[in-house]
Amino acid sequence: AKADGRATYRFFEPEMDAELQARRSLEIDLRKALANREFELYFQPQVNVRANEIGGYEALVRWRHPERGMISPGEFIPVAEDIGLISSLGDWVLEQACMTASTWPKGIKVAVNLSPVQFRNKTLVQSVSRALARSDLAPDRLELEITESVLLQDNNLTVATLHQLRRMGVRIAMDDFGTGYSSLSYLRSFPFDKIKIDQSFVRELSSRADCLAIVRSIAGLGASLGMSTVAEGVETEDQFLQITAAGCTEVQGYYFDQPKPASELVHTLTPGRWR
Ligand code: C2E
Ligand code: CA
Ligand code: CA
Ligand code: CA
Repeated sequence: AKADGRATYRFFEPEMDAELQARRSLEIDLRKALANREFELYFQPQVNVRANEIGGYEALVRWRHPERGMISPGEFIPVAEDIGLISSLGDWVLEQACMTASTWPKGIKVAVNLSPVQFRNKTLVQSVSRALARSDLAPDRLELEITESVLLQDNNLTVATLHQLRRMGVRIAMDDFGTGYSSLSYLRSFPFDKIKIDQSFVRELSSRADCLAIVRSIAGLGASLGMSTVAEGVETEDQFLQITAAGCTEVQGYYFDQPKPASELVHTLTPGRWR
């Protein structure tokens, strides 16, 4: 801290100061990033197990910082939420994802992550319909991924918004399923099209017998509720075999592909690499 004579400065620990400073500069850079076109979308395939083909891609945002290189969304999304930038970033993601998907073969969908904060903004429905109109993408090719925390806040308003989106023909997926406190009751509050089983269950498949039992029952639950089930974070053949035997309808993870820029997508599975 500067020795400017103000006693209060001495209460800050040096590390704290550095942390605060890093956060401040991240905020400043983030505010400029959209206008400077520093964001990019990467896409990771979701493989339809039965048909053995790519059913869609999840869009994952990347920030190419001019000095620091790639910064992961896990680091900057929470900051964007805090400083009121998530809605404009979210609008950019929606539009970019729909534009990109409109160039793909007709059967292939795009999934977009929504922050709970975007649901507090009354213009979400308008943003979605604008992205669809500008890209001319069929609404049923857009899937919105929400987490339980969306349903935790002002439930009536959120559920009304979800119904409005659904009436437009957009699909809704429940992300990170199984990590919250009362997942099952959330399934009752809205008829989701898809359940995404959190990668923590997949990661521990081989070490914990209960994970397989949980995955199997979520897949069964999905089937009886008419929802498809995706297992996330599938990295190995072993996990892939267990997941498909458990009855999940789709698989996503490094086993198939890493998230990649749109220009590198092929849309077909390389024969012989799996199965
Ligand atoms: P998520 O929605 O749960 O996304 C899945 C994350 O798992 C992604 O991390 C993905 O790259 C990673 N992943 C995929 N396959 C594997 C695998 O086989 N193994 C492992 N260990 N990881 C795998 P990513 O891209 O760093 O994104 C992190 C989180 O940031 C996302 O978690 C999502 O919550 C958020 N996020 C990403 N893009 C957006 C966005 O456009 N908007 C919003 N609001 N959030 C986003
Ligand atoms: Ca997601
Ligand atoms: Ca997830
Ligand atoms: Ca997650």
